[in-house]
Amino acid sequence: MRPNIKIVPALAALASTGVCAASLNDVCTSAFARTALPSPSFYQGITIDNSSIVATAVYNTSVSAQVMFPDATFDYCNITFTYSHDGRDDKVALSYWLPAPKNFKHRFLSTGGGGYLISSGSGSLPGGVMYGAVAGTTDAGFGSLTTNFNEVYLLANGTPNYQNLYMFGYQAIHEMSVLGKEFTRLFYEMNQTKLYSYYQGKSSLHVPAKMQTDHSIGCSEGGRDGWSQIQRFADQWDGAVVGAPAFRFAFQQVQHAYSDIVEQTMNYFPPPCELEKILNETTKACDSLDGKVDGVVARTDLCKIHFDISDIIGTPYSCAAASVPMSFPSHPAWPAQNGTVSAKGVAVAEKIIEGLRDSKGRQVYLSYQPSAQFVDAFTQYNVNTSEFELWPSDFAAAFVLPFLQQANQTSFDNLTGVTYDTLKDWIYQGWQEYADTLHTTWPDLTPFHEAGGKILHYHGESDFSIPTASSVHYRESVRKVMYPHLSYNASNNALNDWYRLYLIPGAGHCDVNPYQPNGPFPQTNLAVLIDWVEKGKKPETLNSTVLQGEHLGENRQVCAWPLRPRWRGGGEMECEYDQRSVDQWQVELDAFKMPVY
Ligand code: CA
Repeated sequence: MRPNIKIVPALAALASTGVCAASLNDVCTSAFARTALPSPSFYQGITIDNSSIVATAVYNTSVSAQVMFPDATFDYCNITFTYSHDGRDDKVALSYWLPAPKNFKHRFLSTGGGGYLISSGSGSLPGGVMYGAVAGTTDAGFGSLTTNFNEVYLLANGTPNYQNLYMFGYQAIHEMSVLGKEFTRLFYEMNQTKLYSYYQGKSSLHVPAKMQTDHSIGCSEGGRDGWSQIQRFADQWDGAVVGAPAFRFAFQQVQHAYSDIVEQTMNYFPPPCELEKILNETTKACDSLDGKVDGVVARTDLCKIHFDISDIIGTPYSCAAASVPMSFPSHPAWPAQNGTVSAKGVAVAEKIIEGLRDSKGRQVYLSYQPSAQFVDAFTQYNVNTSEFELWPSDFAAAFVLPFLQQANQTSFDNLTGVTYDTLKDWIYQGWQEYADTLHTTWPDLTPFHEAGGKILHYHGESDFSIPTASSVHYRESVRKVMYPHLSYNASNNALNDWYRLYLIPGAGHCDVNPYQPNGPFPQTNLAVLIDWVEKGKKPETLNSTVLQGEHLGENRQVCAWPLRPRWRGGGEMECEYDQRSVDQWQVELDAFKMPVY
């Protein structure tokens, strides 16, 4: 039974025709939407504010030029309502976009956030509506869809808000999904019809400084959000798209400071132009190793094996003056830079790619692949000294200061005294303190698998913000934990039946990459996942599209891990197995006695 039904004329009309035959205009009213709210007993501990519901019909909305879904035009009903947790004086705002009844295809899509946001506003919701799914997002009770979690974690210096931590960790998206699915069933009068349930999140524009604009979906924090659901609420999902997840949270956030500590330890602060030259020369040198000269390093593993960055010492570089390529308007512009690639510059680059090791030489964490931009290593220009100097990572600060030191501050004053061992200590502390909320690498996915779930996991091979190897490392953990008695090949085959990982050649962080414009991006991921779940069409290779440059619009296919792309003579791509390459991706993190999943 639906609670609180009041018969109004529009509802009376619906009663005779049914929702499926109704127009968007008929059903997209607050009065009708109120009749579809889950009953008070539906979710223990949650009380929906029935008076808060607002429904607004929106017609002929167009989205275009998105990397995570194709162009589309559609109508939808925008419905918002709030709920509170019993016994706690809070208010959580939910937002759902519902397709017109005739376009509803019995699908629900949960979405997540990016950076420190649990939501991407309405940015990811079109990606569901265009496929006939109700798409939802939540503010987690943080005050707005654009409130950063790290800014509401501390009630005061020294006083964490653990409720907000759990909401960000996994609780908010779970509640939004469970309530949203029930609301969907009631709204469209689905009765016993199967409601397919998917996850795809989104990163957002609201990211801290020293971080490039990021308009990704189902990626980064949105990817971690997805894993937080798959790992805990196995039977809630038919499938999930997760991209470049920001999981292994303490490792991930602290490693943003690693490039800074490399520079500080080596006492060399390379001009950005020098690092860009190293990047461009690396890309040029490694392009052909995949068998196809197209400006795309599709095999960064071969690049690691065969290319010695020191070969480019002495190469001249030159850059015009430029504003800092990030959302940090108060930051001084970079002046024109001219010089030659130095031994010190190369040493910094090599050390960054090697990844964090402690003072005993033991590997603490993974790093970016060669051909990824050196964003974490950007230095800042001091107009007083006319020198480049350290620019401490705000991403690392946004974790270390509030979460480890419980200080309500989002930038480091300095990194004086911080060493590789300090970074290791920060990681260990953060790993322990947030193991059950933010870490998000639980490797046993048996319940999800047994419930029939499918995972499409992807990661840009030239990601500059979350190491590509971080995704490989997790998938390896899942493989080893779930199939301990199978051979490498047999376990990969078993896993690939339901959890597939694709490394996207040339792609940056959840986005196309201006340095490798001919690389593809998997723009149709949700469509691919839907076909896999609903039609059993397993994506042997991942459908992708070139989204910029001279090959704009061309289709590409991406190999599934552990196979790697290789073009031979005739130009056809094959997905090959190459043990030496696979070994490049698998780094033992021997600085810790605990297994790092
Ligand atoms: Ca190439």
